[in-house]
Formats: sequence, structure tokens, C-alpha cells
Amino acid sequence: MLDTSARQGFDESHEQFRDTVRKFLAREAAPYLDKWEEEGITSAAFWRDAGAAGLLCASMPEAYGGVGLDISYDLILLEEIGYLNCPVGVSLQSLITAPYLLNYGSDELKARYLPGMISGEIITALGMTEPGGGSDVKNLRTTARRDGDHYVVNGSKLYISNGLLSNLVFLAVRTGEEGSRGVSLLLVDTDTPGFERGRNLDKIGLHGADTSEMFFHDVRVPVSNLLGEEGMGFRYMMSELGQERLSLSSVSQAQAQRAFDEAVAFVKDRKAFGQPIFEFQNTRFTLADMAARLQAGWAHLDWARARHLQGKLSSEEAAASKLWHSENVWHIVDAALQLHGGAGYMNEYPIARLWRDTRIHRIHGGTSEIMKEVISRKI
Ligand SMILES: Cc1cc2nc3c(=O)[nH]c(=O)nc-3n(C[C@H](O)[C@H](O)[C@H](O)COP(=O)(O)OP(=O)(O)OC[C@H]3O[C@@H](n4cnc5c(N)ncnc54)[C@H](O)[C@@H]3O)c2cc1C
Repeated sequence: MLDTSARQGFDESHEQFRDTVRKFLAREAAPYLDKWEEEGITSAAFWRDAGAAGLLCASMPEAYGGVGLDISYDLILLEEIGYLNCPVGVSLQSLITAPYLLNYGSDELKARYLPGMISGEIITALGMTEPGGGSDVKNLRTTARRDGDHYVVNGSKLYISNGLLSNLVFLAVRTGEEGSRGVSLLLVDTDTPGFERGRNLDKIGLHGADTSEMFFHDVRVPVSNLLGEEGMGFRYMMSELGQERLSLSSVSQAQAQRAFDEAVAFVKDRKAFGQPIFEFQNTRFTLADMAARLQAGWAHLDWARARHLQGKLSSEEAAASKLWHSENVWHIVDAALQLHGGAGYMNEYPIARLWRDTRIHRIHGGTSEIMKEVISRKI
């Protein structure tokens, strides 16, 4: 169990929420992890159950069916999901797409989609990356041409999380000139004619999560499904990135802690040369290095969350957080796997899946190189 005794900024109500989350995940996720891994997808039922338990989009206002809590509660869910190493893509909905809609959507769009996103009836995907590139979002090629009171969308998206489960796509499209000012965000229902999904992509990790291509052939989307103003999509995406990067930091840190805990349990049990592996100086020093990193990581995460809640977390700070936590979890899971020896290479040990699943953090949500670009611009 994730030890939260030294954490900062959580009160009794947060701890009660965490307890509810733990019980929910123990019942609705833990028993299905192997099944989801095998089938390459989680289940829509999980989303509806999470919604019914009040765990999805906890920070959305009561007017739309949410509980109107601060985003610490959404982050608690992510920490527990990370510690369980569970592949459900709810962070995208709770901390990215729902806030886009709340902050920039018309009243009509919010009334139409937010209640379903909160109850789990609606599962969202975010379509930014294209076959031509993901880091360079402002040069995306999927077009939305205005035709009366509709946009006609043509193009494709790649590596889209919740690609198969989703029934609503927050789609980044080009509605105007080259570059960032021509980018808009459209909400596309997946039952619109001309929308097609590709196969579930064959990934090296995160096998339980569905990730796919999406194709748009003359898809007619009502103009009323435009999020905010035309040409503002890139700015909207950038304004919410801090929260996305904080959420990825939270998951990474919890997964790093789980890897450490798995390694400690293993080396205290396993013996070589007549003594537990734990007794070797190399093992103790490796664990000590990890423990120091984890201590710094939790302290940093609590600092970043508090700063975000005060509206002060800058985009460079959020990028630095994502960079550090993504690199740190990779460092820790790799060292933890090494301490398992051959067992670490076997899928029956949780560390094997953790190792495969955490490699993504240095790539998605902006690569480590792009994080360095963002940070270095302000130096
Ligand atoms: C499992 C998974 C889930 C994903 N989910 C989603 C999703 O839900 N929605 C979505 O839109 N996208 C998603 N992505 C896409 C992800 O965000 C991109 O893969 C990522 O942003 C990198 O883009 P790219 O793959 O096109 O790599 P590229 O942009 O082609 O980058 C290739 C390499 O070049 C480096 N590079 C690029 N530009 C620079 C630069 N300026 N300076 C230095 N180095 C640079 C990169 O860091 C990288 O090392 C997902 C990806 C994966 C693998």
C-alpha cells in the first residue's frame, strides 16, 4: 500500500477519498489486470463503475453531476492507479479533456457532454498526434473546412489513447493558416459517418491500454462542436498542459514507489551466497539511492501540486516536473528490475510489467527532449 504518512497538503477528507479509491480499485481493477493485459483493452464497464462511485472528473462542478472538489482528488486517483500499475486512461478525461470543455466549451457543449464524461457513459480521446509527427503539434495536417453550419474533417491521427473505447474525440484540426494560429479543437462523436478506427496498436508495454489510429474521411461535424473560438485550439492545449504534466508526474512517482517496494520485498526474501540479497552493500546502496530519489520526488510532487492549486505552476516548472519524474521512474524501475535478477525478466513478477509500462513516460505528453526545450527557453 502506498505510504502517505509523510505527504504534505492532504487532510482527512483527502484520506477518506483515497480509502474509497483503494477499495474501488481493489474490487474493480486489481482482479482484471491480467485479463486486460491479455485482451489489450480495459472495459467500458470500469468507466461506468468509476463514474457511479464519484471517482471520474472529481473536480468538475456539481451543476454537471461532478463533486466540485479540487484537483488533488483527481491526482489521488492517479497515484493509486499508478501504484497498482493499472492501464486505465482516466487521467486523460479527469485532468485534460473535461477541463478543456469546462474552461472553453459553450454552455450547450458542456450540458451535452460533461454529465456523461463524469458518469463514465462517455469515454474521451485526445487526437493531437499524426503520422507526420507528434512533437510539432502546431504543424498538424488534419483539416476542418467550413461548409455551411458544419466543418468537413479529413486526415488521420496516430497513437491515440482510449482509441477503441472512446465515443468522443477532442480533435486538433487545422481550420486556417499554417502554424499555431490555424489550429482549432473540435468535439467529434465517433458515430459520425466517415469516422474510422484503426487496429489496436502492438506496443512494447501498456498492453492493457487501447491505443489506435483514427481516420477521418469527410466527417461532418456541426460548427457548434467547436471548442471555444476558431484558431485558438493550440493556445487552449498549451494552457492545460501544466495540469497534464503534473498528472503524468503523479503516476510516474507512484509507479517508482511501487517498483521500489517490489524490489525491497524481493531482495529481503531471495538469498545468494548464503545471505539475503538485501545484505550485499551494492543492494543496500542501490535501494538507498532509490529511497533518496523517492523522498525528493514526493516532496517535489506535493510542492508542484500546491503551486498548481494556487495557480502559480509555470509551464517551465510543469515541464521540469514531467521531465524529472519521467526520467526518475525509468531509473528506478530499471534498477529495481536488476535487483530481481532473472525473475525481473519474467512476466509473472510485477516489476516486469512496471518496466515495460513506464518507458512511455519519457515519450508521451511531450518527450523529455521537448520538456528540455520548454524549460531552456526561459533560462
Ligand atoms: C502509448 C502512447 C500513447 C499516446 N497517446 C496519445 C494520445 O492520446 N493523444 C495524442 O495526441 N498523442 C498520443 N501519443 C503520442 C505522443 O504524444 C507522441 O508520440 C510524442 O509526442 C512524440 O511524438 P512522435 O512520436 O511523433 O515523435 P517525434 O516528434 O517524431 O520525435 C522523434 C524524436 O525526435 C525528438 N525531437 C522532436 N522534436 C525535437 C526538438 N525540437 N528538439 C529535440 N528533439 C526533438 C523527440 O524528442 C524524439 O526523441 C501517444 C504515444 C504513445 C506511444
